Amino acid sequence: MYFSKSLIPILKNNPSEAKIKSHQLMLRTGMIKQSSAGIYSWLPLGFKVMKKIEQIVREEQDRIGAQEILMPTIQSSEIWKESGRYDDYGEEMLRIKDRQNRELLYGPTNEELITEIFRSSIKSYKSLPQLMYHIQWKFRDELRPRFGVMRCREFYMKDAYSFDLLDEDAQHSYNKFFLSYLKTFKRLDLSAIPMAADTGPIGGNLSHEFVIIANTGESKIYTDRRIFDVNNDEVALDKKSLIDLRKEYNKYYAVTDEKFNQNEFDSNVTSENKLETKGIEVGHIFYFGDKYSKPMNASVDFNGSKEFVKMGSYGVGVSRLVGAIIEAKYDEKNEIMKWPLAISPYHCAILPQINKNDKANLEKALNIHEYLKSKNIDTIIDDTDESISSKMKKFNLIGVPFQIILGKKSEDDLVEFKEIGKDVTKTKVEEIYKIIINKL
Ligand code: ATP
Ligand code: MG
Repeated sequence: MYFSKSLIPILKNNPSEAKIKSHQLMLRTGMIKQSSAGIYSWLPLGFKVMKKIEQIVREEQDRIGAQEILMPTIQSSEIWKESGRYDDYGEEMLRIKDRQNRELLYGPTNEELITEIFRSSIKSYKSLPQLMYHIQWKFRDELRPRFGVMRCREFYMKDAYSFDLLDEDAQHSYNKFFLSYLKTFKRLDLSAIPMAADTGPIGGNLSHEFVIIANTGESKIYTDRRIFDVNNDEVALDKKSLIDLRKEYNKYYAVTDEKFNQNEFDSNVTSENKLETKGIEVGHIFYFGDKYSKPMNASVDFNGSKEFVKMGSYGVGVSRLVGAIIEAKYDEKNEIMKWPLAISPYHCAILPQINKNDKANLEKALNIHEYLKSKNIDTIIDDTDESISSKMKKFNLIGVPFQIILGKKSEDDLVEFKEIGKDVTKTKVEEIYKIIINKL
C-alpha cells in the first residue's frame, strides 16, 4: 500500500474538541471520523486495528467452544415485551417503526433474541451446554456520548450467551468465560482486572467487570493491590483449574462503586494495599439463572420434567478497546503510539527518500514491500515527498512498530532500520526480514 493513495487523513495538531488522549489521537491519525454525536465511521487505519482486536476476541471465544453466529441489529419489540424489558430499558433504547407500523428497535444487547433462538432450536438437556457468541453493532442512546469510541451511541461488541441445565453447570460456563477474558486481554497486552460488579439492567446476581486502570476511565474501583500479582501470574492462567483460578481472585477485595462498602473495604484490606482509582470497563460478564428463560419459556426436557435453562451473558467492547489500548499504551513524552504488535495497523513502514529524478529508493522500497507481503507482513510505503524525519514522526504517531528507512545513508543491502521506541541502526535487509518474522 502506498501512503499517497491511502485514506489516512492525518491532522497537524490534536483536534481541540477531543478531551482525552485516545480520542485526540484517533481523530488526528484519521482512524475514525465522527458522523453525528456518538456515531463514527471507521477509516482504514482504525478499521484495521479494530478488525485485528476482533479476531483475537474471536479466537479466544472459539477456544472455549463457543459457537459464532450473527444476529441482526434490528429486533422486534415482541420478545422484549415477553421478558418485560421493553418498558424497563428506557430511553437508551432506539425505537423504530416500519411501514406496517410494527415496533422495532436497534438492539442494545441480545439476551431476548438469543433466548428466542434457543427455545425454538434446543429441546433436550443432552444438547447442553450451549455457548454462542456474535460480534455485532449495538446502539444505546447514551445520555452523554463522549470520549470518542469509549462512550458511543453506536458501538461494536462481542456478546456471548451460555445455556445450562443446572446452577453448577452454569457457574462452570461462567468460569470458562472468566478465563477466556483473562486470556483475551493478556493477548492484547492489557492488564484488565476482574472486579465484582453490579448487574444493572441485565439482572441476576453474579457479575464481574474487567477494568483497565486509567485516569480517564469512567468506572470507579476499590481494590486490594495484590490482585495485580494474580493477574500477572502467567503460570496460574495455564495450570489452575477454573475453580482454583476463581478462588485465587476471590482472595482479594476488588469491586466497582455500585458494590462498594467502606466497612468491608476497611476490614478486608490493609491501608498500604488499598487502591481507590478509576478505570475503563472493557468487558462485563453476568450470571442470571432463569431471569429470561422463565418469562420467555426457554426450557429443556430433563427426566420427564421441564427445566428452565440457566443463562449467563458475556460482553467485550471491541470498539471501546481500540481507545482503551491507546489510553493504556501511549507514550506521551515521545509522542509514540505503542500498539501491541498483534494489533498494530501495519507491522512495517518503508520510508524511502524520494528525489525528483532518482527513483532508486522507491524501486528498492517496492522490492522490500513485495518480499514482506509474501510473508504476510502488513506493510506500507510512504511515497510522499516529505522529509525522512517527518515521515518517521508520522509513523511513530500512527504506531508502526518497524520502520525501514531508505535515505542517503542506505547502501545496496545495508539500510537504516528502526524498531519503535529504539534507535536507528544500520542493518542488512536480510537481517531485518529475520528480525520482523521472528517477532511476529
Ligand atoms: P458502561 O457501564 O460503560 O455503560 P455497560 O455495563 O452498560 O457499560 P455492558 O452492557 O456490559 O456495558 O456491555 C458490554 C461491553 O460493551 C462493556 O464492557 C463496554 O466495554 C462496551 N460498551 C458498553 N457501552 C458502551 C458504549 N456506550 N460505547 C462503547 N462501548 C460500550
Ligand atoms: Mg451502559
